[in-house]
Amino acid sequence: MRAHQLDYGPRDALLVVDMQNDFCEGGALAVAGGNALVAGINAEIAAAHRAGALVVATRDWHPVDHVSFAHRGGPWPVHCVQDTEGAAFHPDLRLPAATIRVSKATAFDADAYSGFDGTGLAGYLRDRGIGRVIVCGLALDVCVRATVLDARREGFDTVLLESLSAAVDPDSMAACRREFADAGAEVRP
Ligand SMILES: [Zn+2]
Repeated sequence: MRAHQLDYGPRDALLVVDMQNDFCEGGALAVAGGNALVAGINAEIAAAHRAGALVVATRDWHPVDHVSFAHRGGPWPVHCVQDTEGAAFHPDLRLPAATIRVSKATAFDADAYSGFDGTGLAGYLRDRGIGRVIVCGLALDVCVRATVLDARREGFDTVLLESLSAAVDPDSMAACRREFADAGAEVRP
């Protein structure tokens, strides 16, 4: 686990991606190592909050029979159905009251991996004067990856906290790191 948190300021937004029950051990689409991230992410949230940074928590928030589910021809088992226990944030995740919650992939017919996809988040962060986005959460090679790349596309300085993220396929990490470097995102171990 990381011993020190990043230095945060009021122009920073910490994006905690999809720390939901279904993506942690015991969930419908569990990522190995998900539960173990919670303590470190809580420390990061606390540091960001203390420094006046924005804390944003994204969540996968699907209708029943969402297009990404296997029985609809999609790649994933049923997961993160709106208002179910599986879609709830991890019970030990400590989100300050002021946390901005962002729900994504809420339409029947479209999936969204990135916290910026169809949510209006980029414009909101710009309106709030945010210049740098710091990303952690699940899953590194899916929704975290898409969120990091979109953050760069939207012109934010972007930092990925790699030790506060876990991948569905750990073998994909080398390719992800290359993509992040090519996009100009900083990867902190
Ligand atoms: Zn999903």
